[in-house]
Amino acid sequence: LDSEEFRRQGYMVIDFLAEYYKNIQKFPVRSQVEPGYLRKRLPESAPYEPESIERILKDVHDDIVPGLTHWQSPNYYAYFPSSGSTAGLLGETLAAGFNVVGFNWISSPASTELESIVMDWLAEMLNLPKSFTFSGDGGGVMMGTTCEAILTTITAARDRILDRIGREHINKLVVYGSDQTHCSFFKSAKIAGILPNNFRQVKTSRVNAFSMRPDALRAAIQADVDAGLVPFFLCTTVGTTSTAAVDPVALLCEVAKDYGMWVHIDAAYAGNACICPEFRHMINGVENADSFSFNTHKWFLTTLDCCCLWVKDPSSLVRCLSTNPEYLKNKATDTQQVVDYKDWQITLSRRFRSLKMWLVLRSYGVDYLRNFLRSHVDMAAYFEQLVRMDGRFEVVVPRSFALVCFRLSASAVIQRLYDSCHRHGHGQKFLEEETLNDVNAELLESVNSAGQIYMTHSLVDGVYMLRFAVGATLTQTHHVTYAWKQVQDHASAVLARRIN
Ligand code: PLP
Repeated sequence: LDSEEFRRQGYMVIDFLAEYYKNIQKFPVRSQVEPGYLRKRLPESAPYEPESIERILKDVHDDIVPGLTHWQSPNYYAYFPSSGSTAGLLGETLAAGFNVVGFNWISSPASTELESIVMDWLAEMLNLPKSFTFSGDGGGVMMGTTCEAILTTITAARDRILDRIGREHINKLVVYGSDQTHCSFFKSAKIAGILPNNFRQVKTSRVNAFSMRPDALRAAIQADVDAGLVPFFLCTTVGTTSTAAVDPVALLCEVAKDYGMWVHIDAAYAGNACICPEFRHMINGVENADSFSFNTHKWFLTTLDCCCLWVKDPSSLVRCLSTNPEYLKNKATDTQQVVDYKDWQITLSRRFRSLKMWLVLRSYGVDYLRNFLRSHVDMAAYFEQLVRMDGRFEVVVPRSFALVCFRLSASAVIQRLYDSCHRHGHGQKFLEEETLNDVNAELLESVNSAGQIYMTHSLVDGVYMLRFAVGATLTQTHHVTYAWKQVQDHASAVLARRIN
């Protein structure tokens, strides 16, 4: 690596990205390409001779950018956004520049130590109990995604219970979530060897805003105990993926503790907001959980990937996941005074994620970060108000954090279709074949294919809803006003099409 050439090319790439951000609003937010578009444009084999950065960047511009869905666009409201930032991006760049592989302390002491420090800082910001921090015999680790965090904790919990009751009883182990728990939970349970028959999805309903009911959980657990099974793991969620519902963590922990279960709190999205004192109560009861995780790559100005996981008992991870081959042996490990993060996770090699988190925390500070999160919640509240003011729409569940779930309402759609049927003499049959869900799906596709904004949907308890998730770093109030106008215009067009 020649440093002058690196400098030259590095400037070019940063310039390229700066231009990208300057022009980001000009691109359709959701990529408009067709499947297989790229294979048609790229050569069949890798180049034999080197190519210049100029040529490569031109192809990035011409071939790659059209196939991007622009997650950093201010008009992006899909899934849960992934809020990038200058500090996050530059921290990522520094980490890639150093390119260390910090699987144990000696392989890069700064990587391990900074991670432990930053995890303690974040724990303090979240007001997590001391028992989750290094000074309280717990500790935190950074992983790629929540899926990894959940798999890691289920695996540790599985071994903890099997050490007690015997390996031969693995088929009796049962895990619990709700019907709103993220799909990664059951996938992780499957990977950890739990029988699919032993996955329980406690039913939620619109009445409880899709949060898990403690009495329903207790009934499910007791039924399994009565059947000779062994409940061992509960995944609660603070901010579910479909509607950002919040499970009552404290009450659910009480139930689980009666049965000696491991409780994990998946706060992938909403955990970010919990650094604001006014949202912290959403994780009340965390002191009785065994593990807690959230994704700073979702809503914390941090580039993908970074899932922060805290556990009260790191030794339960180490007992289950540690490896000690000859080629990794070293004096620091022998002293047992250092953290070897390879023993806290599934993989061996790991990225220097704490560097970008450190840059984000230092560059913006806690106060700014809190206000950043609040501004998104305020914009979502504003959007919710706009929805409520238009009689054709309904908010399906009360807004939670910065997510608004809404749809064209039954009364608006059915009434219009009904009137139209009668006007045109189509009769009842036409009306029966139409469903509200179809109309809303059509509205969403109409909005997204126009490319001005991007939202996604969910289907909960049979109700198809559009999700408007504020969280892109560049979004401002005027973008939200614009987005709502887009939704209204497309709704008018869809309804008019249906009626004619
Ligand atoms: N849990 C919840 C509540 C989520 O909303 C998501 C993703 O949106 C996940 C887990 C999965 O996160 P990851 O992609 O980091 O595995």
